[in-house]
Amino acid sequence: MLYIIFTTGQCNLSCKYCGGSFPSDVVPWKVEYSVNDLRKFIEGDNSPVIAFYGGEPLLNSSFIQSVMDEIDFAKFVIQTNGLLVKHLPVRYWEMFDTILLSIDGRREVTNYYRGYNVYERVVEAARWLKSINVKADIIARMTISERSDIHADVFHLLSLGVFDHIHWQLDVIWSDRWRDFDSWCTNSYKPGIKALIDLWARNAINGKVLGFVPFLAVLRALIFDEKLDSPPCGAGFSSVAIVTNGSVIACPIAVDAKWAYLGNIFENCWKDVFGGRFIGEPCVSCSYFDLCGGRCLYAYYERFWGDDGFKKVCSLTCFMIDELKKISGKILKLMMNGVIDPNSLRYPPFNNTTELIP
Ligand code: SF4
Ligand code: SF4
Repeated sequence: MLYIIFTTGQCNLSCKYCGGSFPSDVVPWKVEYSVNDLRKFIEGDNSPVIAFYGGEPLLNSSFIQSVMDEIDFAKFVIQTNGLLVKHLPVRYWEMFDTILLSIDGRREVTNYYRGYNVYERVVEAARWLKSINVKADIIARMTISERSDIHADVFHLLSLGVFDHIHWQLDVIWSDRWRDFDSWCTNSYKPGIKALIDLWARNAINGKVLGFVPFLAVLRALIFDEKLDSPPCGAGFSSVAIVTNGSVIACPIAVDAKWAYLGNIFENCWKDVFGGRFIGEPCVSCSYFDLCGGRCLYAYYERFWGDDGFKKVCSLTCFMIDELKKISGKILKLMMNGVIDPNSLRYPPFNNTTELIP
């Protein structure tokens, strides 16, 4: 099971997407339970994955170190903006399986949304992690908004050569920042996805599997005849988030949503809180459900853009799936002929907090 652990509600940035720190009465800035409470909560789970999250998790690096020292049988993941990467000693970085660094693509896009010089500092952090030879999968975690050009931004991150995988999430449903979402979908996102799929397929012919997470997730399901989990991030059934006050919630975004509350680590154990939230209609009857999984539990419950807005985002998911279906037969042949290693298509190897469907 995946445990997304808030180490603090505080953040050292104030990105346009979320505005920075959580109010301390919603997500306290200090952890209000002990590592022993956490250990007792997950006792009996034979394959725990612990993902450090915030706020900015490295603002509380001493808690991270205590958890990694005392629950050393877990897999470790961190989602960080990377600015405080040196706050954690090298020996801890060596213990991570996955490190997700928040970066939106090109310098001007990242710095517009995240702040002055952030791009430079994240790239420096990624290069430093490579220089110390961490074994972790280093993932660029992009937020895609109106100034993003999915093709230009993903291609840019690929060209830096420091990220093993690239994942993106659309800044939709909870965001009211869009001026003209429809035009952006038609003129920017859809052509960009098409161009990226072309790029992916051209590389595959030469045996190179580019680490674009949404493509890998859908192609894996198509090629190995699997289904995506619902929702693909596992929220509420195989993944939970633990707030600094000990509350256990289905999705780390849903800190103040009643529907997301599942229990707390003082009174419950891990078996009590999983499997409690599901996606229903219209997703379960949707012909894309096996390859989409209902996309996002939070968006499914909240629908801030109404049903029409929900459907607009669906149309982007369906477009990407349809375009990937067009190349899946060719990719299968490349795999059967030994040009592509099947293992490289089995991504992610475990729930590493990439939500798979943007
Ligand atoms: S495409 Fe939309 S309706 Fe269909 S499964 Fe995905 S989120 Fe649900
Ligand atoms: S994809 Fe949606 S439900 Fe899943 S973790 Fe992200 S916001 Fe929460």
